[in-house]
Amino acid sequence: MDDDYPTYPAGLRLADRRVVVVGGGHVAQRRVPHLIAAGADVHVVSPEVTPAIEGMVGAGELTWHERRFEDADLDDSWYCIAATADTAVNEAVSAAAEVRRVFCVRADDGTRATAWTPATGRHDGITVAVLCNREPQRSARIRDEIVEELREGTLAARRQRDHAPGVVLVGGGPGDPELISIAGRKALMDADVVVADRLAPRELLGDLPADVELVDVTKLPRGRSAQQEEINRVIVERALAGKRVVRFKGGDNFVFGRGYEEILACREAGVPVTVIPGLTSPVAVPAVAGIPVTHRGVAHEFTVISGHIPPGHPDSLTNWSAVASMHGTVVLMMAVENAPAIADALVAGGRPATTPVAVVCDGTMPGERTVLATLGTLASALVAEEVRPPAIIVVGEVVRVAHPGAFGG
Ligand code: SAH
Repeated sequence: MDDDYPTYPAGLRLADRRVVVVGGGHVAQRRVPHLIAAGADVHVVSPEVTPAIEGMVGAGELTWHERRFEDADLDDSWYCIAATADTAVNEAVSAAAEVRRVFCVRADDGTRATAWTPATGRHDGITVAVLCNREPQRSARIRDEIVEELREGTLAARRQRDHAPGVVLVGGGPGDPELISIAGRKALMDADVVVADRLAPRELLGDLPADVELVDVTKLPRGRSAQQEEINRVIVERALAGKRVVRFKGGDNFVFGRGYEEILACREAGVPVTVIPGLTSPVAVPAVAGIPVTHRGVAHEFTVISGHIPPGHPDSLTNWSAVASMHGTVVLMMAVENAPAIADALVAGGRPATTPVAVVCDGTMPGERTVLATLGTLASALVAEEVRPPAIIVVGEVVRVAHPGAFGG
């Protein structure tokens, strides 16, 4: 069994289904009442049981098989708990369960189990189940805190508090779901509708309550302006219908995110709109990759430029020769395709061809990697390393600060 994977939580509906508990001691005694409460057809297999279990037998709440475990006990069962004090017996239960594809909890050794029992609590129709990677005491503590908050109404109240209709622009940060702000996360949890981009941290969307409408912008009609108009229309229309809409983007909504166009559309329609900034990728991605965008005595400025239009193009708004004549860090976004032309323009404008460059792909995400090059070798490095967007390209001496061995001198 591979301990590297997270568990997959599920709520088992056990009413009238056969569940086998092997062992009749204190572990079994603690587990059995929950199974009875779930309506399970509980069978305890053990030569001896505690007086409390015996009481449940007397009350007709479970069936006691007064003997040692046999593999056939698991026939037709849905779930089992190996709770004896004897590892060999628990091992036999595990093996019999595995053959029959019955999920099996092990009281003695969680690493050998196919299911774990979370710390659970209930309040007002809500079941709280907490699993901290085999740290039962920590699970129980966290369960207590959550149940306590539910009792005090602090958790439930939050869900009602920010429910006024309107639009909230939420920056989701560079990709790692932990890098959203607390305010951003709260806004997501309060939303009726979430309109999300490709680069918005996907895992956070998986945590949304099931009744939240999720609009995936990548599925809207293509074309730069058609798509934006459609987004504006969707957020305004939902807000006017009384919904709380979160416009959810990667990084920050105002950094090449067209956030202000959405603000203008909302204002025009009389829809209230607020902004929750996000960690923007041109700063956060190099930071997580270990590259500072400024460093004392090395770079006193950093310039963030969109590379989606190449130098010399009639639509370009960037003065590349001015950028080339500066000394500080240049951070390029949306620039994988045009990077060779940009590197040429920077060298033509006076930056040495030996200027260090770092290309950080899929920053802060599981597949993050950094490709090192110089302005002179960037074009071939991108091809050789098969670099694909999203990538942040950092140009300047700060890259040498972070990777002193890689460039000589
Ligand atoms: N609003 C976003 C940027 C959107 S433009 C922000 O503030 O970060 C899209 C570009 O952002 C991509 O082409 C890439 O250059 C950069 N980018 C965003 N997330 C990234 C990530 N996790 N890793 C590398 N580059 C990223």
